[in-house]
Amino acid sequence: MSIYFDNASTTKPCKEAVEAINRGFSECWGNPSSLHSMGVKAQLAVDDARKIIADSIGCESRCIYFTSGATESSNIAIKGSAMAYGKRHKKIVTSSVEHSSVKESINELEKSGFEIVRISPDKNGIFNPDDFINAVDENTVLVSVMLVNNETGYILPVKKIFSVIKRRFPDVITHCDCVQGFMKIPVRTGELNADLISLSGHKIHSAKGVGALYIKKGIRIIPLINGGKQESGIRSGTESVPLIMGFGASVKALSPHIEEHYKYVSDLKQYLCSRLSELEDITINSESDASPYIINISVSGIRSEIMLHWLESREIYVSSGSACSKGAKSGVLEEFGLSQKLSDSALRISLDFSNTESEIDEFIKALRDGQQKILKSR
Ligand code: PLP
Repeated sequence: MSIYFDNASTTKPCKEAVEAINRGFSECWGNPSSLHSMGVKAQLAVDDARKIIADSIGCESRCIYFTSGATESSNIAIKGSAMAYGKRHKKIVTSSVEHSSVKESINELEKSGFEIVRISPDKNGIFNPDDFINAVDENTVLVSVMLVNNETGYILPVKKIFSVIKRRFPDVITHCDCVQGFMKIPVRTGELNADLISLSGHKIHSAKGVGALYIKKGIRIIPLINGGKQESGIRSGTESVPLIMGFGASVKALSPHIEEHYKYVSDLKQYLCSRLSELEDITINSESDASPYIINISVSGIRSEIMLHWLESREIYVSSGSACSKGAKSGVLEEFGLSQKLSDSALRISLDFSNTESEIDEFIKALRDGQQKILKSR
């Protein structure tokens, strides 16, 4: 039996999502824009999913716009709000550890004349909310800060940052990439003070190719994709009805269990950390109060890819801890203060409520064997 510890990359679609997707393909394959009853049926299915997702983050249905995933959501949020509000205000404040979908969207805006302030954590890898707050001034158009870092699980102080900024500068737009927090820790629009929130389907047991963008009522966004004005013109293009139905179904299935899953995964993380402490030459890079779903470790003297493939040979799947895509380094671990050595040997173990202690036991055994065999073979 394989062991999947790469749930921050993607998750296995749950049975509720698969059933809903199948229903979408077999029963709701009409075009939601069609005026006849088949179109109406598809539109109702989309609106049903919209309501489920809206309820799960505490907003009205009309504030949820379906996209192809969080990458698209963040592109629309960041570029679309900068285009709408950035004629006079040219400053954007963000963290230095954002996912590439946010980072690269902001880099593009920098090329077209926006001034970007990237806030780094201190030498201990801790973000100070005041660093964000003090960077914002009357020239600021947008502040984009992620909720949970996808490489370390670090939880950024978004609530604090956004609430003070909104009090001082109510017109500044706030965006939060909530991908690694959604359905794991509470994500409530009222508490976060975010005008824009990016969500992804495949990180929460739904399908790849679907996500959502929350846009607070009254916030203007210039659409990046023009066409048939689906999703109220924010994201033109015929909606992927089956995937949207699957997204709704997985949110409906998971929402009642967020706390219970959090507790279970926290205990699992504790077990993992105590078992890791039995091994030599392991450093745990994630903070103890980070999201329990993501644990970043370094295995001294063994490059990430070597250990990743060793574990893979035992059918244990983890991620190389510093990679953003196909092994390319993101530089995020260095931002959190890790040395080159630790970063080069980092592994990301990302847990799910379906993982078990006996899987951790198998993992520890394989890691120990790997340390012995790989180091001995040199
Ligand atoms: N934001 C974060 C924090 C992520 O971890 C990911 C996926 O790795 C994304 C955004 C992109 O999400 P999607 O694959 O839905 O585009």
